[in-house]
Amino acid sequence: MKERLYLFDTTLRDGAQTNGVDFTLADKLAIAQMLDELGIDYVEGGYPGANPTDSELFAKDRDLKTTFTAFGMTRRPGRSASNDPGLSALLAAKADAICFVAKSWDYHVKVALETTEEENLASIRDSVKAAKAKGREVLLDCEHFFDGYKANPQYALACAKAAYDEGARWVVLCDTNGGTLPHEVEEIVAKVCKVIPGDHVGIHAHNDTEQAVANSFAAVRAGARQIQGTLNGLGERCGNANLVSLIPTLKLKPEFARQFDINVSDAALKKVAHVSHALDERLNRAPDRHAPYVGDSAFATKAGIHASAIMKDPATYEHVAPETIGNRRKVLVSEQAGKSNVLAELERIGLKVNKDDARISRLLEIVKEREAIGYAYEAADASFELLARRTLGTVPNYFDVTQFDVNVEQRNNARGDRVTVTMAVVKVKVGDDNMISAAEGNGPVNALDLALRKDLGKYQKYIEGLKLTDYRVRILNSGTEAVTRVLIESEDENGERWTTVGVSPNIIDASFQALMDSIVYKLVKSRAPA
Ligand SMILES: [Zn+2]
Repeated sequence: MKERLYLFDTTLRDGAQTNGVDFTLADKLAIAQMLDELGIDYVEGGYPGANPTDSELFAKDRDLKTTFTAFGMTRRPGRSASNDPGLSALLAAKADAICFVAKSWDYHVKVALETTEEENLASIRDSVKAAKAKGREVLLDCEHFFDGYKANPQYALACAKAAYDEGARWVVLCDTNGGTLPHEVEEIVAKVCKVIPGDHVGIHAHNDTEQAVANSFAAVRAGARQIQGTLNGLGERCGNANLVSLIPTLKLKPEFARQFDINVSDAALKKVAHVSHALDERLNRAPDRHAPYVGDSAFATKAGIHASAIMKDPATYEHVAPETIGNRRKVLVSEQAGKSNVLAELERIGLKVNKDDARISRLLEIVKEREAIGYAYEAADASFELLARRTLGTVPNYFDVTQFDVNVEQRNNARGDRVTVTMAVVKVKVGDDNMISAAEGNGPVNALDLALRKDLGKYQKYIEGLKLTDYRVRILNSGTEAVTRVLIESEDENGERWTTVGVSPNIIDASFQALMDSIVYKLVKSRAPA
C-alpha cells in the first residue's frame, strides 16, 4: 500500500507576490482550471477581503474538483472571532478550505504582533474553531516555523499543536524567509512529526538558497505529507518550491514513486511541460530554456559523441524519458556538430537519408558556413529543419514575396499628441495570384508580420492559428561590421512551438527572414499542398 501525498498550489496567492506578476480575475480562473486538470489537491486562490480581485474570485461559483482554498489571518489579538472584520470576510468567502497564517516565532509575536504568547495561541484556537464551525476544512500556515523552532522549540510546537488539537486538517511548516537548509528541515520536521502525525503536516518552502524543492523532499522524508508550491516556482523574492519540478520527481523517481501516490495521473504528467509554458505565456514571459524537466534544453544534447550514443539508446544520457512530461529530445546542430548530430536531428524530424548520402556532408558544410556569419541553428530548430529539407529538396515554393515596404512615421495625431505610426505593405505572389496587403503595427517588425500574414491566398487557412510568442534581437560583431541576429518563437493552435532565425546588417531584413521561415515551417508542418 502506497501512502498518499498531497499537493497544495499557491501560485495564485504566494505566486501573486512575484515581482512583475499581476493576475487579473480571468488569469486566476484560467490558472485554477489548469491546476485542477493537472490533479492538484488544493488550489489557494488568494486572500478574500484583501483586494477586489480576490474578493470577486471568492464570490464566484466554481466547478472544480480541487479543494479551493482561501488564505487569511487568524483573528487579531484583543478581538473576539465574531468581532473581527478580516476573519468575517474570510469565513464568508465561497471556499472549500481556509488556510490561516499565524506567527509561530516568539520573537515575532512580541515584536511584530505586539501581543503575548498566550494571546497568539488563543487567536489560533479561536480562528480554527470558527472556520470549523462554518464547515470549512482548515489549514494553518505556521509562519517562520523553522526560525521559530530554532529560537524556541516549545513555543513553535505549541502553535502547531494548538491548531491540530482544535481540528485543523493540516499544520503547514513554513520556511518563510527561505534560509533553512535541507538537513535542518529534515531534523526539525522529524521532531514535529513525533507530536503531530505526519499525515497532518505540510511543508511550505521558499527558494532563497535555491533549495526549496530539496527542502520539500527533506520534509517528506521526515514524515510530512503535504507539499506547498507554485507553478514555475513563482513567488516573492526568489520564489517558492517549484511544483513543475516536484511533480515529475515524485512520479518518476523510484524513491518517491514506490512509496507515494499523488493525484497527478500519468496522462496529466504528460501535460506538465505544456502547463508550465502556458503559465509563462499568460504572464508574457519567455519560458526558461534550462528549466529542469520542461525546459527546451532539458533534453538537448550538443556534443557529437553523446548524440551518436543517444541515437542508439536514449537511456544512455537521459535520466528520464522526455515524453513522460510532454517534453522532447533535441539534438543540437552547431559549429561543433558532427555528422551524427545532423543524422540524429534528421531522424527526429522524420527525414530518411542514407548516412553516406553526399547531401549530408553538404548540409553540414552549409550549417557551418552560416553559423560563422551569425546564424544559430541550435537555438532555431525550425530554421534548421527548413535548411535540411531544402538541401534535400523537399520544400515546395509555396509563395514569393515580390516586394515589401515598411514605413515609420512620427507626427502629431488629431489630439496634438506626438505618435509614431508604422505601416507595412507586402506584395505576395501565390501561384498566378498577386496579392497586396497592408497593416499598421506597434513597430516595423510587428507591421511587417501582420501584413505578411494577412492574405496568403489558398495558404491562409493553414496559418490562421499561427502567432509570435517571443522576439529576441542580438547585435553580433563579425569581423568588420555589426550584424543583427533575430530569433522568433512561434506557436500554433495546438500549442506547438518553434524557433526561427534571421541574420543581416539590417534588423528588418533579419526579422523578415525569421518571419518567412516561421510561416513556411508552419505550411510544411501542416502538409499544405504545393
Ligand atoms: Zn510563502
